[in-house]
Amino acid sequence: MNLTAESHRVPLSDGNSIPLLGLGTYADPQKTPKGSCLESVKIAIDTGYRHIDGAFVYFNEHEVGQAIREKIAEGKIKREDIFYCGKLWNTCHPPELVRPTLEKTLKILQLDYVDLYIIELPMAFKPGDAIYPKDENGKFIYHETDLCATWEAMEACKDAGLAKSIGVSNFNRRQLEMILNKPGLKYKPVSNQVECHPYFTQPKLLEFCRKHDIVIVGYSPLGTSRDETWVNVSSPPLLKDPVLNAIGKKYNKTAAQVALRFSIQRGVVVIPKSFNPQRIRENFQIFDFSLTEKEMKEIEALNKNVRYVELLM
Ligand code: NAP
Repeated sequence: MNLTAESHRVPLSDGNSIPLLGLGTYADPQKTPKGSCLESVKIAIDTGYRHIDGAFVYFNEHEVGQAIREKIAEGKIKREDIFYCGKLWNTCHPPELVRPTLEKTLKILQLDYVDLYIIELPMAFKPGDAIYPKDENGKFIYHETDLCATWEAMEACKDAGLAKSIGVSNFNRRQLEMILNKPGLKYKPVSNQVECHPYFTQPKLLEFCRKHDIVIVGYSPLGTSRDETWVNVSSPPLLKDPVLNAIGKKYNKTAAQVALRFSIQRGVVVIPKSFNPQRIRENFQIFDFSLTEKEMKEIEALNKNVRYVELLM
């Protein structure tokens, strides 16, 4: 694969394509100053990022939309240059809720379409205003839905032009097979967004997805923010890894850049989150060096098969 800043897109099975590098935008809304997402997306676009990963439940989609619209108004980009991925939350799986939920996201973004709309998680919560519905004992209230019916509603969103492409997130092989084997399937999921980085390399899922033309989008590609409220911090910090740092030294790159390069060199799309201008730029500088086969193997051997994001719900 020829990886340059100009040609860093991978084809999707529906004829569209996805930039190999995107900006992740999840940041704890309680701890993050208002406007930092807006500024970061604008800096990212100026830096050359064209792919932004967001979600309704990140509660900053309005800032993402504003940043994109401001950059379009400035003449820096056109709408079609940007690839925005939005996500269908767990409380919105019933098929009749899918399109209205996407329309709500588009209203927040003030955009006409998203480039990719994905089912954020395979399990459903009780529909309603509570994002995390819980019973009197503090237990999540789940909701029985048919993922295949949810998928058909996603297909209808693509047909209506509200989403250029549709995909999934946090799906395992069995859940992917359920969609792929659905009678009357109109569109395959183009992508599966899952945790993927040198400590959690997902070799089996990667192979399965490759076989079915499903692009893996690797989230937490730098090993997360290590926020103890949702991250398994018993797994050591990825960016302190001696192998990643030693390889970085050789190329005058950081461990973060080596980790990102490793993923894109395997054809895994990466969406590192940073709201820091210097690190946003640093994470973009991964197209001007390449890892040798031996280095790729060394990094692959770091796999611990342990998730940072356990998704205990
Ligand atoms: P990540 O991208 O692996 O790491 C983000 C953390 O690394 C932040 O604390 C960031 O801080 C720091 N950082 C960024 N660049 C750095 C660099 N060059 N050197 C050192 N530290 C650096 O983690 P993530 O946010 O968990 O994952 C990325 C994105 O994936 C999310 O934002 C979200 O869009 C998506 N995601 C999706 C799901 C899902 O279920 N589908 C789950 C998790 C995440 P600063 O901001 O201060 O730079």
